Amino acid sequence: MTEQGRIALVTGGSRGIGRAIALRLAADGARVAVNSVTRTDAAEEVVHAIGKQGSSGLALQADITRSEDVAAMFQRLQDQWGPVEILVNNAGIISDSLVIRMTDEAWDSVVDIHMRGTFLCTRLGVRDMLRNRWGRVINIGSVVGIGGNAGQSNYSAAKAGIIGFTRAVAKEVATRNITVNYIAPGYVTTDIVEGLTKEQKERILQRVPMGRFGTPQEIAGFVAYIASEATGYITGQVMCIDGGMAIS
Ligand code: NDP
Repeated sequence: MTEQGRIALVTGGSRGIGRAIALRLAADGARVAVNSVTRTDAAEEVVHAIGKQGSSGLALQADITRSEDVAAMFQRLQDQWGPVEILVNNAGIISDSLVIRMTDEAWDSVVDIHMRGTFLCTRLGVRDMLRNRWGRVINIGSVVGIGGNAGQSNYSAAKAGIIGFTRAVAKEVATRNITVNYIAPGYVTTDIVEGLTKEQKERILQRVPMGRFGTPQEIAGFVAYIASEATGYITGQVMCIDGGMAIS
């Protein structure tokens, strides 16, 4: 669906949902830069898998909370292929606890990766897109950014903040053929969900009308659609991919 040769950057593309998005965009014809922070081996593996699909990949190590790292990452992308056209702000972590026990570190680290990281990458990505008069920014949020989740006040706040950011930036760039959207997955089978106990998983599934977790590929398919030419009139939207959680 993606126009052949488009330049995409997926933050946190080494694992989980980001990995599936990187592979899917590449399968659709994009050249895909795969960012990671610690697991450079995993990012290289994704690049290798992209190559086996017959597309081009590039591993880019950067901590998205650090301005200098983000600048260097965009520069390397520019030098290798050119300006970014599809930016997927996906990288994320959790550090859960009830608010009364939450440490400063747990708050700051989660808010930094999701909000500051999304801001730093979008600031540079959108500069490229404004010059090209075409672009797609796709922010991977969460249903808990809409409904909140006990034990995740830091994560819920950060994901909710990205909704406001998405809508503000969407308005800033709308006249230049750039769309900015927010995709809110429910629970998806990645390392984050695999780390939950059996009881936690069962409790969560009771809230999912479809009675199962989503797959990274189900998120990636929708991201690829939003990244495509077909969706040029959709911007500032929050879209849930959650097996019906939001309506239950
Ligand atoms: P994973 O834990 O599987 O992967 C996280 C990715 O983020 C890794 O690639 C990791 O890189 C990268 N990352 C972490 N910190 C940084 C940083 N400072 N700079 C650059 N990259 C970083 O996560 P998921 O695939 O589960 O989640 C992806 C996104 O989807 C997140 O935004 C998450 O909040 C969201 N989401 C996930 C849900 C789920 O159920 N899994 C549900 C709803 C939303 P490295 O490999 O180097 O550590």
